[in-house]
Amino acid sequence: MRTRHPISENLDSLIACRSCDLLLDRVIPPPGKVARCPRCHHVLISNKRNVIDNTLAGAISTAILMVAAIFFPFIALDEAGLHRDASVMDAIGAFADGWSAPLTIAVAAFIVVIPVTRAAALIYALLPLRLGKKPPSQAARSFRLAMALKPWSMAEIFIVGVAVALVKVTDLADVSLGPSFWAFSALIVVVVFENSTLCEWTIWRLLDPKRR
Ligand SMILES: [Zn+2]
Repeated sequence: MRTRHPISENLDSLIACRSCDLLLDRVIPPPGKVARCPRCHHVLISNKRNVIDNTLAGAISTAILMVAAIFFPFIALDEAGLHRDASVMDAIGAFADGWSAPLTIAVAAFIVVIPVTRAAALIYALLPLRLGKKPPSQAARSFRLAMALKPWSMAEIFIVGVAVALVKVTDLADVSLGPSFWAFSALIVVVVFENSTLCEWTIWRLLDPKRR
């Protein structure tokens, strides 16, 4: 991506950096390469193959893993002959009493509701494209919602917090990790994969019939 003054007056040939707002002439990088903002090095266009396939794979994997994460046991504790299973819903409900009740809503939103909503929005917007059909009527709104929710989707951060807490708990009791724990761990890999392959500019171009 190069800067040039004055930049083009044709708005369709411009691109703005989402990180620092620098306005640039759009230059599409060669296949497999990325174009970065010269000021802050934020990725502007990632001209990778199979952007739709990879993004859909990430969204569908997130939805499946989240079902496993919610319905399977998360962790089991054994201490002095006592056994206790805990699920993710138990962890969310642990804040439900007293002044910390709003935390229940926040935790449920950040680790379950928002990641699932985001995955559903991406699947709704992109699956018809993958099947060779026209984008659905609300595809643009749906994709915009998915992008807006990205910073608030924290399922993978939850598992990092749990891992830190487990270091303390293992001193007090025998800990067994359940399928839900591994489902959340797999979500970290899926999120990293999805973030590294999702090119917003490419998908916007595919969603806009005038530019296809
Ligand atoms: Zn920038």
